[in-house]
Parts: sequence; C-alpha cells; structure tokens
Amino acid sequence: MGKEAISVSVHDVNKLIGMLNGALAEEWLAYYQYWIGARLMEGPMRLEVEAELLVHANEELGHAVLVVDRIIQLGGTPVINPKDWAKHARCAYEEPSDPYVEKILEQNLAGERCAIKRYQEIADYTNGKDHATYQMAVQILNDELEHEDDIESWLADLNRMKEEWKKARM
Ligand code: FE
Ligand code: FE
Ligand code: MG
Repeated sequence: MGKEAISVSVHDVNKLIGMLNGALAEEWLAYYQYWIGARLMEGPMRLEVEAELLVHANEELGHAVLVVDRIIQLGGTPVINPKDWAKHARCAYEEPSDPYVEKILEQNLAGERCAIKRYQEIADYTNGKDHATYQMAVQILNDELEHEDDIESWLADLNRMKEEWKKARM
C-alpha cells in the first residue's frame, strides 16, 4: 500500500481488513447458496426466480472481486482457504435442503439482510476517513438493497397467490 494511501485511511487498518475478510467470505458463501438453490428450486415462478437468482449470485462474485482488491490495496491478506469462510463469515450459510421456492427465497432474504448490515457497518466505519473503501461499500450496499427488494417482491407475490387460492376454496 502507498504511503499516502496509508495516511488517508482509517486509524485501525487491521480492524478494517478483518471486516473486509468477513465480507469476502460472506460473498462466496452467498454465491454458492444462491447458485445451488437456483438449480434445486421447485414451485411457482421458478423460471423467473431461477434466472434472477443466478444474476444475484453473479453480482455477489463481482462484490468479492471489489472486496478482495481493496484488501490487497490496504496491504491485507485475503482469506485463501474456503475452509476458513465459515470462520470469517457472520452470515449463516443456509443450506437449501428444502427446494420449495418460498423456502429458498426466505433463506436468501436472510443472506441479503445480513449483507446489508455488513456493508452498512463498513460504510459507517470508513465514512469521512477512507473514501475508497467507503465508496465501494456504498456501491455494494446498493446492490444488496436491490437484491432484498427483488426477493421481498416475489415473496409478496407468492403470498398473494396463496390468499387467492384460499378465497377460491371458500
Ligand atoms: Fe454481495
Ligand atoms: Fe446480494
Ligand atoms: Mg435483481
């Protein structure tokens, strides 16, 4: 990391690198969870949801690229072994053992909300101090907010459908 870069960054670079490694591990776990979940999924709207979840999964990989590049710029060492992902991640890996679309979406929603907290925290920690990391965190945060919104909309549609079925049966 350049001397000037060090002087303008946060006081506790190690703490920040720890947070970024947490985010990196979470992105990879989220990537696999969404990717495998999209392929296993069954139920209504599967084609539409599957395609969009694969887009989300790819966006998580894009986030991993941004985060790892910043860790290296800051002079840190990124997590280099997948077996350490669970140690660094704060967001649970939610195994898609029930392939029903609603279950998969609820699990992914938990992941998105956990990611939102993570990037909110990184943005708060770097705001006004480390502009590069701050800007990256806000950029990723905006994607995670969009992912959360996509999933909430599908869950609302599924609920609406269930209500209509109930009415039709009465
Ligand atoms: Fe992400
Ligand atoms: Fe996401
Ligand atoms: Mg989307």
